[in-house]
Amino acid sequence: MSVLTILAKRFIAGETMAEAVEAVRQLNLLGMKTSLDILGENVASERMAADLADKYIEILKTIESTGIAANVSVKLTQMGLDISDDFCFDNVSRIIEEAGEFGNFVRIDMEGSTYTDRTLKLVYRWAEKYDNIGTVIQSSLYRSANDVRELCERRIRVRLCKGAYKEPASVAFQRKEQVNDNYIALMKQLLDSGIFHSMATHDEAMIEATKKYADIKGIAKSKFEFQMLYGINRSGQTKLARDGYGMLIYVPFGTHWFPYYYRRLRERKENVLFVLKHLLKA
Ligand SMILES: Cc1cc2nc3c(=O)[nH]c(=O)nc-3n(C[C@H](O)[C@H](O)[C@H](O)COP(=O)(O)OP(=O)(O)OC[C@H]3O[C@@H](n4cnc5c(N)ncnc54)[C@H](O)[C@@H]3O)c2cc1C
Repeated sequence: MSVLTILAKRFIAGETMAEAVEAVRQLNLLGMKTSLDILGENVASERMAADLADKYIEILKTIESTGIAANVSVKLTQMGLDISDDFCFDNVSRIIEEAGEFGNFVRIDMEGSTYTDRTLKLVYRWAEKYDNIGTVIQSSLYRSANDVRELCERRIRVRLCKGAYKEPASVAFQRKEQVNDNYIALMKQLLDSGIFHSMATHDEAMIEATKKYADIKGIAKSKFEFQMLYGINRSGQTKLARDGYGMLIYVPFGTHWFPYYYRRLRERKENVLFVLKHLLKA
């Protein structure tokens, strides 16, 4: 195993389904739910995209047979979005249908802004047929308030995050304070809808703002949840779960970890220092 593979383990549950199941079990014991994600993005052939959908179906069967508390998160570029919208629609429909059989849920992750429109159009198509899907909105994008309005009108569950992709000023806020202010505005819009949504953030200020708004509005802890990424702010994760808030951990696994790992490093200089320290020690 390479040094980088060892370091990536800080953010990734492992390379195999068995390792992911073990990581999920540990989190479940701490009172947390999970969403499993097979690492990888931008698949160029129908064959590869169909194979990946089959893997997600296997995951759903494993979740059912092991009784772990988990759903799945899916990236549409893994499912053939670069090939065609119709192919991607049919491919992901197979996953959503299998999840539906087990009473489980599929979250459609949000990727870079060049995919936002097509992702949401597909989500609206699925939502007309199935009720066990939700998607993700990024507070970095100017368009998000309108998208949240439309998603809530259609009663689609939203995971709110800040956005992990570097976006141009033509579509996205460039300053952290603007992204944070928009996160809080969108969080209020979501909580006011009465639909079960998820606030995905490790930012203490966003978490406190959510708790405070829910308190003021008399919104019960059971009506929304927090979400965090595997391996980030573990003490914050356990504390929220202990305090009675819904806490879901996004658990990525698999061998194609580099782009995900790189985004986590880019988010925080301390993570780069952590890697350098371990490389020097290795
Ligand atoms: C469950 C979940 C699902 C997500 N899904 C998507 C998605 O579909 N599409 C998308 O674009 N983005 C997604 N993201 C990523 C998200 O957009 C942000 O890039 C990421 O969560 C960092 O933003 P933050 O809210 O934690 O705030 P930040 O302002 O980035 O960070 C606040 C604090 O959190 C801690 N922290 C944040 N990131 C790290 C890190 N990498 N390592 C260590 N500490 C850190 C630090 O203490 C930091 O000061 C998801 C995030 C979560 C939690």
